[in-house]
Amino acid sequence: MEKAQAEYGKLPVYCAEPSSHTQFGQLKKLGVEFVDNDFFLTPRALFTSWAESQKSFVMENFYRAQRIRLNILVEGNKPVQGRWNFDAENRLPPPKNYTWPKRLTHARDEIDKQVAKELGYEPTDSWATTRAGALKQLKNFLDNHLAGFGPYEDAVTLDEWSLHHSLLSPYLNNGLLTADEVISAAIKRYDQDLAPIESVEAFIRQIIGWREYVNGMYWFLGPDYRDNNQLNATRKLLPLFSDPTKTQMNCIKETVTDIQSRAWVHHIPRLMLLSNLALITGANPQAFLDWMREVFIDASEWVMVPNVIGMGVHADGGQMMTKPYAAGGAYISRMSNYCKPCAYNPKLRTGETACPFTTLYWDFLDRHKETFAKNHRMSQQVFGLNRLSDLPELRERAQEVLSGLEKGRI
Ligand SMILES: Cc1cc2nc3c(=O)[nH]c(=O)nc-3n(C[C@H](O)[C@H](O)[C@H](O)COP(=O)(O)OP(=O)(O)OC[C@H]3O[C@@H](n4cnc5c(N)ncnc54)[C@H](O)[C@@H]3O)c2cc1C
Ligand code: SF4
Repeated sequence: MEKAQAEYGKLPVYCAEPSSHTQFGQLKKLGVEFVDNDFFLTPRALFTSWAESQKSFVMENFYRAQRIRLNILVEGNKPVQGRWNFDAENRLPPPKNYTWPKRLTHARDEIDKQVAKELGYEPTDSWATTRAGALKQLKNFLDNHLAGFGPYEDAVTLDEWSLHHSLLSPYLNNGLLTADEVISAAIKRYDQDLAPIESVEAFIRQIIGWREYVNGMYWFLGPDYRDNNQLNATRKLLPLFSDPTKTQMNCIKETVTDIQSRAWVHHIPRLMLLSNLALITGANPQAFLDWMREVFIDASEWVMVPNVIGMGVHADGGQMMTKPYAAGGAYISRMSNYCKPCAYNPKLRTGETACPFTTLYWDFLDRHKETFAKNHRMSQQVFGLNRLSDLPELRERAQEVLSGLEKGRI
């Protein structure tokens, strides 16, 4: 910048708002002026005024306001078809005997090959690297996946790694696609009766709701938010995160293997497997965040920080989400088909074949019962501890599990 100013004089320099507090600070120091970034639909000032008017930052409230503000799937101030969300219909486990549509692959061009060579890795065919490729991915999603998106959005299956997810996050985050064009295209399919409201609403919610909310919260919560560790979690990153052979937990082995193959898994493995494991084992939030930042294709500071620190590991003491997403093996067993071939049993919490998630879920509640008893959304779960007749054995098994995970044996 100094060089440019020396050559051209002190002309003003404008920049689209960048994606992290660090970049923002560095550019500001140089005197750069910022304009709204069209990667998003919500100007930062608008989000701030919404957040400042709230007692707690409930995404659903933000989302409904977005629907009205952006005039999406509404008639006046009312949702089309009479409901703001169709979540109740959209929590199906993976279907049996289902044929998933063929996944789109992307041929590698010479530039891709050269870049991959320089970075020292074998290029895969999962991701596009051009605007034309990103548009093809969008069309493939609209033609083959949008209609089925809603019902199975929370399911996880060994049969198909991407299910009906759009695989659009990298392109939305690097500007090959804009949020605006993606939602307009989805609404067009709804208007043409090519996709049902349950799926279109669910998809729209991800983009104008979750994505905008997460970005807004990142800027609203400020640069120090990243360093939160309110549950005082100090465990080093477990070896299974970087080497899937270091665990016998089928769900984690499969998830980490998938990440190593294509740098992506959908939101349930990110939240209910990886983050849940980090949360209930007491992994240091920043160590886990750094790992997540490194391994995902769509990782950016603005999106990883709130998703991991707030939603994933509850390190912010509930500033973003009122309750932690902690769960035992029963949830994973219901929403996936990982458990059948696993060495562990999701129903058991003690003994050698107890599912580590089930054991550690109860142990986590036990370790933090004083904190969570004060949280009315958690008190019932904490109260459940009183019904466990085997709490001493459970605590003992939890210690064995934690030490086994550290040694890469569980
Ligand atoms: C712990 C954790 C970490 C995550 N890290 C990232 C990340 O680094 N980058 C990223 O883009 N998303 C992240 N997400 C959100 C979500 O998992 C991914 O956006 C999604 O899996 C990307 O795949 P897709 O494009 O097929 O998404 P779909 O399921 O098809 O959803 C459509 C779009 O909605 C948006 N979206 C949905 N949920 C979120 C959310 N929570 N935050 C922001 N955008 C959302 C994405 O742009 C996504 O492309 C994270 C979620 C969790 C729980
Ligand atoms: S039994 Fe537990 S560890 Fe094994 S796959 Fe199921 S949830 Fe994962």
